[in-house]
Amino acid sequence: MIAQNKALSLECYACEGIEDEYMFYYNGELHPLLSGHPDIQKAWKTWDEIIFFWEKVPKNDILQSAEHLHKADKEEMFSEDSLEVAVNCQAQPDLISVKNSGAEEMEERKQGIECGQNTGDDDLKDPVRDMSMQEWLERQQCNKDVIAVFDALYCQTVAAAPRQMGLFESAREENAWNYGSGNYRLADSYSQLVEHLLNKCTKVDKRLCWQVKEIDWTGDIAHNTDEKQDKFNPGEKVCLKNQHGEMLTAKYVIITVPLTILQDGDISFIPSLPANKKSAIDTIRMGGALKIVCRFKSQFWPDSLNLIYSVRGFVSQIWMYSRDSADSDDDKCHLVAGFQTAEPAEEKIELSGQEVLDGFLEHLDEIFRTDLNPHPATDSFMDYVYYHWSKHPFIRGGYSSPTAHAYGLRDELARPVDDRLFFAGEATSVTACATVHTAMETGFRAAREVCNLSAERVHTE
Ligand SMILES: Cc1cc2nc3c(=O)[nH]c(=O)nc-3n(C[C@H](O)[C@H](O)[C@H](O)COP(=O)(O)OP(=O)(O)OC[C@H]3O[C@@H](n4cnc5c(N)ncnc54)[C@H](O)[C@@H]3O)c2cc1C
Repeated sequence: MIAQNKALSLECYACEGIEDEYMFYYNGELHPLLSGHPDIQKAWKTWDEIIFFWEKVPKNDILQSAEHLHKADKEEMFSEDSLEVAVNCQAQPDLISVKNSGAEEMEERKQGIECGQNTGDDDLKDPVRDMSMQEWLERQQCNKDVIAVFDALYCQTVAAAPRQMGLFESAREENAWNYGSGNYRLADSYSQLVEHLLNKCTKVDKRLCWQVKEIDWTGDIAHNTDEKQDKFNPGEKVCLKNQHGEMLTAKYVIITVPLTILQDGDISFIPSLPANKKSAIDTIRMGGALKIVCRFKSQFWPDSLNLIYSVRGFVSQIWMYSRDSADSDDDKCHLVAGFQTAEPAEEKIELSGQEVLDGFLEHLDEIFRTDLNPHPATDSFMDYVYYHWSKHPFIRGGYSSPTAHAYGLRDELARPVDDRLFFAGEATSVTACATVHTAMETGFRAAREVCNLSAERVHTE
């Protein structure tokens, strides 16, 4: 029996035993997702605790959605019930911000939300307060190795380091996820979706390469005070200026640029955005992300394997798939994608595509080498594409993440300003940021806000 295992190990890469669809690569070995390795078990347990923790926090105290906030009129928001909750809890971040939306309250929120209710659980006897994921992990007695596993499993997916992530935002987001657990890929890329949407709005006047540089929403203020009257903005319209100084006016504007574009001040707002909005823009994080996709002549990984969480690896996630080419003359296509976010990705920003490719192939060789074939990836490599999204001039990062001390700020980010500026895009999602489908949801939400408002105006005019 021992001899047989030895013979097998000459041909097999290092693996704990069972091959799964998703696996960890940890300390030189592949492990199933629900491995018996104590560090992996502890990382999972800690992740469960986050979900569990949120379930125990009184929902009325902290769960608020922008949908609710936006549609609720102020009376509804300050009904006796909601005020009672605020008094009981001493912390209703969303209510505080709506009721008295000054910079002071935003500062209070950033310092930590304290809610003195005892949930009856030992872990929660301390006041429930927001903290960085790093602090939470340390409080759960996770050592550096467990934190590294947790990082590969979870933090890398949401594009932030543990010390940048927030307990409240992570817990809220994980519990709000109601899109199922599967991963889906559009066989012919996302361009299908873009085409579909473009076909749906053939009557819309679309301006491409129209980089907004200035948004003047002075409108009524100028009108009332006679401070500003120019031929482009005679009424209360919003004025947009592009990179060539060309102008457009609109009654309502939906702003969907990535968070980084707002953070970097690419667009000048006249007058400036309110303090709450600016605070939300500056606080929520959007980390970097890179992706490399390689094509191989042959499949050197097991059929069942789909994804590897690589702990402290050259990249953090490795996705693999083979598919038959639609073109019958083409070979079967064997692809492996490497994905990384946050600090490890940001550290690679200066690397060339060739350097990233070399590192990635070396990592794949390390994972799948056998005594008979020490370079399975390098030997069957065909070609690759690589992109670092921090380098994209109009994106400058991956996607926003559940940030420490940013609980409730997505509501602020999503909230319309003066009923003329509306905000959409993945970072404004109050369910889950960082995905295409939730970004689309925010677009529908913002469009609804505008439609409701214009319907109201038509009704009252
Ligand atoms: C590497 C990587 C992998 C990902 N993987 C997945 C995944 O598997 N599944 C998933 O669902 N999501 C994934 N995402 C996230 C997803 O791509 C984003 O959440 C989504 O594209 C965000 O859509 P958006 O409309 O908010 O922003 P964007 O798609 O970034 O659109 C913003 C637009 O604003 C434009 N813009 C910028 N500045 C200006 C300006 N001044 N004037 C006018 N226009 C401007 C930009 O050019 C851009 O077209 C991934 C992202 C990355 C980077």
